[in-house]
Amino acid sequence: MSLAGRASEAAAISAARHRCVGAGQCVLAAPAVFDQDEEEGLVLVLDEKPPASQSDAVRAAVRACPSGALALR
Ligand code: SF4
Repeated sequence: MSLAGRASEAAAISAARHRCVGAGQCVLAAPAVFDQDEEEGLVLVLDEKPPASQSDAVRAAVRACPSGALALR
């Protein structure tokens, strides 16, 4: 990614998989950033440092998560 691209990144995402209950709200809110694994349905972060264009979707995902598994840092 270019330096200009880095400058427009959103906050980095951390996901505590041990807290995830597999509700899938994060995937609905930001499908370009989150997925669920096929075995347990637990969250997978596809892009830990998503572009700024995903900021609103990522924040919606963090708010929607029922278990508090997602955080921005
Ligand atoms: S919304 Fe929260 S609990 Fe649901 S899959 Fe995503 S991280 Fe897990």
